[in-house]
Amino acid sequence: MKEFLSDRINSLAVSQTLAMAAKARELKNEGKDVIGLSLGEPDFNTPDYIKEAAVNAINQDYNSYTPVDGYVDLKNAIITKFKRDNNLTYELSQIVVSTGAKQSLSNIAASLINPGDEVILPCPYWVSYSDIVGLNGGVTIEVKTDISNDFKMTAKDLESAITPKTKMLWFSSPCNPSGSVYSKEELRELADVLVRYPNVYILSDEIYEHINFCGGHFSIAEFEDMYERTITVNGVSKAFAMTGWRIGYIGAPAWIARACNKMQGQVTSGANCIAQRAVITALEESPSKITYMVDEFKVRRDLILNLLNNIEGFNCNTPDGAFYVFPDISYFFGKVIDGYLINNASDMSLFLLDRALVATVTGDAFGDPNCIRISYAASQEQLIEAVNRIKKLLS
Ligand code: PMP
Ligand code: GLU
Repeated sequence: MKEFLSDRINSLAVSQTLAMAAKARELKNEGKDVIGLSLGEPDFNTPDYIKEAAVNAINQDYNSYTPVDGYVDLKNAIITKFKRDNNLTYELSQIVVSTGAKQSLSNIAASLINPGDEVILPCPYWVSYSDIVGLNGGVTIEVKTDISNDFKMTAKDLESAITPKTKMLWFSSPCNPSGSVYSKEELRELADVLVRYPNVYILSDEIYEHINFCGGHFSIAEFEDMYERTITVNGVSKAFAMTGWRIGYIGAPAWIARACNKMQGQVTSGANCIAQRAVITALEESPSKITYMVDEFKVRRDLILNLLNNIEGFNCNTPDGAFYVFPDISYFFGKVIDGYLINNASDMSLFLLDRALVATVTGDAFGDPNCIRISYAASQEQLIEAVNRIKKLLS
């Protein structure tokens, strides 16, 4: 029978982070010694105090459908977290809990974007932003940045991308994939542009908030003049090593939260009951309970940067957060190595997988064709071995 897929699904790209992880898994299953540095997923276990809360919830018979926008006590824990960590004040009507921050992003796009609306994405951006926007009829406007300015968008860059059709700006800080963190001053410069364009909304993705090595996280919604137009997205996947539990959330103006609630009510309903109970504990406990993971990520960041900087042609910024390095490898373009022509970052990423058995992700997936992304959410031994293999192959 002929396959009749919709134009929508046909025009959607496969998530390249997930595709590369699947490819690496396949090779591993074939018995190949692949080092997977493609997926942004902590290699720690979920902390015991959070697991215990989940076990208690099962024993207490939490098994029914949950409220679409989340349990009230979880929403209260999120409100307390926003106040404690971000100095942001939200009410219950402004919080929506979802099945991962990815669903939060999708709800926001579906709720705010009309066909033809423009969404500004500073490059590099997280892989799924462009497809989630596109799926909802939005047009992405990429703003190029590069290693010379630590992959950060300036006020001037932002202003030149704004048109009468601009609906939103989407960005992450700490950034996946560059690890860049916008300071309060840098965000103020962007906000000074945005105050002149009152119809432009901001999606501030802060899922790497706690994985921050520069000591300061600032939320753009903390500026009074940005609060009413900002949707702050967060989740527990990264900092709490809870990727598979699938809980994300937003703090937003009530009318946007209402719209996300309506969308979610038709598409998936409320998020998983046990996971929500566990996240109450995750958020209520002090963030100091997870600093052992952040400290380890910092050690690994320093390790991998040192190692990569010893490879000719790898040009790295110093990431201040998240757990990725995003080296510019354009030095290799046009070169033949070991009989293999490297024309672009995808070629390099495939070459490293084929010949060094190291899985990375091409920068094209993040809107930057000069770079590759390497996740250092892996053991120090694996990182040393991976970079040794890369170095040997390229020299
Ligand atoms: N935003 C960014 C920047 C991410 O790296 C991820 C990672 N998956 C997400 C959102 C989605 O996170 P999740 O759906 O696991 O909460
Ligand atoms: N966010 C992670 C990454 O960037 C997980 C994969 C995904 O959700 O796409 O690799």
